[in-house]
Amino acid sequence: MRFEPSLLDQIRARLPISQVVGRRVTFDKRKSQPARGDFWACCPFHKEKTSSFHCDDRRGIYHCFGCGATGDHFKFLTETEGLTFPEAVERLAEEAGVTLPKPDPRDREREAVRVDLAGASELAAKFFEQKLRSPEGKPARDYMLKRGILEKTSIEFRFGYAPDERDALKRHLIQNGVTEETGVAAGLLIKPEDGRPSYDRFRGRLMIPIHDERGRVVAFGGRTLDPEGQPKYLNSPETPLFHKGTMLFNVHRAREAAHKSGTIIVTEGYMDAISVYQAGIRNVTAALGTAFTEDNIARLWR
Ligand SMILES: [Zn+2]
Repeated sequence: MRFEPSLLDQIRARLPISQVVGRRVTFDKRKSQPARGDFWACCPFHKEKTSSFHCDDRRGIYHCFGCGATGDHFKFLTETEGLTFPEAVERLAEEAGVTLPKPDPRDREREAVRVDLAGASELAAKFFEQKLRSPEGKPARDYMLKRGILEKTSIEFRFGYAPDERDALKRHLIQNGVTEETGVAAGLLIKPEDGRPSYDRFRGRLMIPIHDERGRVVAFGGRTLDPEGQPKYLNSPETPLFHKGTMLFNVHRAREAAHKSGTIIVTEGYMDAISVYQAGIRNVTAALGTAFTEDNIARLWR
């Protein structure tokens, strides 16, 4: 989505930059002159003991005389929190009370489908989580124990269990108002071409939700718990929410740490990424397709 310059100006005008920056830094009371919109602090972009970071409400910019970091409201959020530009605009527009223009109706229709699919995915994630902690989830809990996955990690990553039944999830989705069509479109159900009833894609598997950059559940990976089971790992198919070639596992959690350290670790599979994360290394992601693509790399750079 593109934003009109006048819209960005409106946000900058309504929201003092000191308010945006002030959440991350402590202003130097002796040096700052709030009445003039003139603020000084220790720079959040480099280590220092005296305040050489200047924040100017009248001009709506910040500038560090130590390291040269400079920018406006939006840049401050993309640089300190690793947000994308549109995300920074959305967040600050809300804070400034500026209404963003409505996307055109076709965009809205597409967005409605995506929201639907996201709702179904979230419902499925909760269902799997609850099954993991029920008596029937024992094989999955045993497997986690064997892999050294701690309880708190399984909670943070929202591990779940897909019961070994034909349509346990399907029944749950329908009871909660999700249509069969949406379940199929979200990659949760499979509808055979020969007209037989649809059934659960994931059965008898340890379930690991895959989130998008905003932290919404958009897909799943499922590890079989049957030693003979094939395939060992089953991922959701491509859907309007899930793009294997461009998305990375754990990006929404890894982003801030990756941004701060300037490095990111990419593992081959998500179970490895989870182990690395559990060991305290937060800037870790995993590829989701069979190959690590050019698009993956482009996304990492961002
Ligand atoms: Zn600096």
